[in-house]
Amino acid sequence: MMVDQLYHDMERRIAASPPGLCPVDMAMNFLNLCHAQTCGKCVPCRVGLGQLSILLGDVLEGRAKPRHMEFIEETAQSIASTAACAIGRHAAQLVLDGVRGFADDYWEHIHNHRCLGNLENPVPCVALCPAGIDIPGYIALINAGRCEDAIRLIRKDNPFPVACAYICEHPCEARCRRNMIDDAMNIRGLKRYAVDTAGDVAQPLCAAPTGKRVAVIGGGPGGLSAAYYLALMGHEVDVYEKRRQLGGMLRYGIPSYRFPREKLDQEINSILSLGITVHTEVDVGKDIQFEQLRGQYDSIYISIGAHTDKKTGIPGEESPGVVSAVEMLRAIGDNEMPDFTGKKIVVIGGGNVAMDVTRSAVRLGAEKVSCVYRRRQVDMTALPVEVEGAVAEGVELLTLMAPVRIEAGEDGRAAALWVQPQIPGQIRSGRPVPQNALQPEIRIPADIVVVAVGQGIETMAFEHAGIPIHRGTIEALSDSTLAKTDMDGVFAGGDCVTGPASAIKAIAAGKVAAANIDEYLGFHHEISVDVSIPAPALQNKAPHGRVNTTEREAGERKNDFHCIECGLTDQGAEEESSRCLRCDRFGYGSFKGGRKQAW
Ligand SMILES: Cc1cc2nc3c(=O)[nH]c(=O)nc-3n(C[C@H](O)[C@H](O)[C@H](O)COP(=O)(O)OP(=O)(O)OC[C@H]3O[C@@H](n4cnc5c(N)ncnc54)[C@H](O)[C@@H]3O)c2cc1C
Ligand code: SF4
Ligand code: SF4
Repeated sequence: MMVDQLYHDMERRIAASPPGLCPVDMAMNFLNLCHAQTCGKCVPCRVGLGQLSILLGDVLEGRAKPRHMEFIEETAQSIASTAACAIGRHAAQLVLDGVRGFADDYWEHIHNHRCLGNLENPVPCVALCPAGIDIPGYIALINAGRCEDAIRLIRKDNPFPVACAYICEHPCEARCRRNMIDDAMNIRGLKRYAVDTAGDVAQPLCAAPTGKRVAVIGGGPGGLSAAYYLALMGHEVDVYEKRRQLGGMLRYGIPSYRFPREKLDQEINSILSLGITVHTEVDVGKDIQFEQLRGQYDSIYISIGAHTDKKTGIPGEESPGVVSAVEMLRAIGDNEMPDFTGKKIVVIGGGNVAMDVTRSAVRLGAEKVSCVYRRRQVDMTALPVEVEGAVAEGVELLTLMAPVRIEAGEDGRAAALWVQPQIPGQIRSGRPVPQNALQPEIRIPADIVVVAVGQGIETMAFEHAGIPIHRGTIEALSDSTLAKTDMDGVFAGGDCVTGPASAIKAIAAGKVAAANIDEYLGFHHEISVDVSIPAPALQNKAPHGRVNTTEREAGERKNDFHCIECGLTDQGAEEESSRCLRCDRFGYGSFKGGRKQAW
């Protein structure tokens, strides 16, 4: 019982390990833990792990010589290949991976007797939000009932507080220090409460006009974020968007039952109120050439997203009745709802996009919706909450089924998807590779087959204009400038650079690009906000359950496209915001050098 409790406490500590911890220290602690777990019968484990621990201790204590690196690698390698059981082998492998992956940290200890990791011990939630939003600050403002100020504070780093409140995948919660006590803070849920409570919050004033002109290609969250900050800095910004409306995948991907369209429209209008000019239904590379834009503007930001669909490559994929997820969601984004009444819909894929398609198909009146995935449910890349929501709405999950071909009926249209049952095989990259089971193929009748196996980037027009492309994505450096020097003044970011990712990553890329374009144009504007953060209350933080948002009942919500999620109540927001440990002010994670008021 006591041992179970200790293990449980240890798991919580690991869950709360913030980024920035010393990898040598971590490796030694894991190694000692594994050493305590071994049976001690084989020499490599009993003696070898102890020796490794002494070597790592030398590194940490500043006693190590350069040859220690070799000793550590050789000892770990020898244990990994000779220990009699998995405990010893894995412990040594862990050290081996660490010494190779974090070589710089080891050398810093050996040469300079100090730790690289400790130098930048960050507040965990802030470090993991790609845009670096001041999370403890806005939670404190919500707790003080100052939701409008919370929105102002968020906008300093992210002009899309509403979008992120509804659909952000909240990586910031992963290592929340509150995990040590009970559970991570509901950071996204609190942001949702703030945006719902604050209503319309006026935008800050723009800096004096600089006379510089910037073109942004692509009106998704990435492009609009860059446009927003550039406009605040006083530059004249024109956004060129290929589709009828702005929003990118926030409109043409994410269904309105997750992010209501009127909320998206309000947020975009608020951003445009800074004086940004928009040219919709202009396809750059077709309606206007990239070179023409270069001649007209002082700088260009390319943020065209990932909008082509990937294919499965199985026979019959070109048949009428086979559609791509991108195609289907794009039509819905423009309010052109396909009629699925009484139809059998089969969706291929196991990611979030596949879930958006299956759940939309349910709402479009389908008689039956099946989701075919070649691995196990636990291996799906979709968020578990999305998969559970889809199942609750009546979607049938057909896991461990690999699509083989699409059968066409007499009229040439798709009539069925044939699948080959799979069984889990060897584990690679953390997931078992599916392999054919010794079972016959199965026929799944289908009126429509939707392929949701990923998106690519439409790079051709840009490649012709000389934009560097690497493995299907636009090649930009970490400062968002293009990898080629003759593209002076041209920057890129978002999904078209990283491949399909997330809204907050595209927003963060837009923010970085705005800062770099501003520097390129010869300025150094600062984006700041004059919101004072309440001082933390000195009170005991007793264990307290996390307050979650709720959802409308499945039987009701599956009939419409209205928002599924119900936000926190006043009471819920008050309780939840009180749980924050204010790592900005207390403990090893406090903001070094004070809060970042401007960037
Ligand atoms: C179905 C689906 C669900 C998703 N769900 C989530 C989620 O829940 N949470 C989350 O964080 N992320 C989610 N994402 C991912 C997220 O939407 C994207 O990562 C994000 O929108 C990328 O932003 P972006 O600005 O780089 O590109 P986009 O949003 O794709 O915007 C690019 C814009 O450029 C325009 N464009 C393209 N080519 C040209 C051209 N030649 N000329 C002019 N304009 C052009 C496009 O029309 C588009 O409007 C989802 C994506 C999909 C597809
Ligand atoms: S934008 Fe996303 S990652 Fe950043 S604080 Fe909000 S929920 Fe967390
Ligand atoms: S307790 Fe608060 S400040 Fe600390 S990591 Fe969690 S949300 Fe961030």
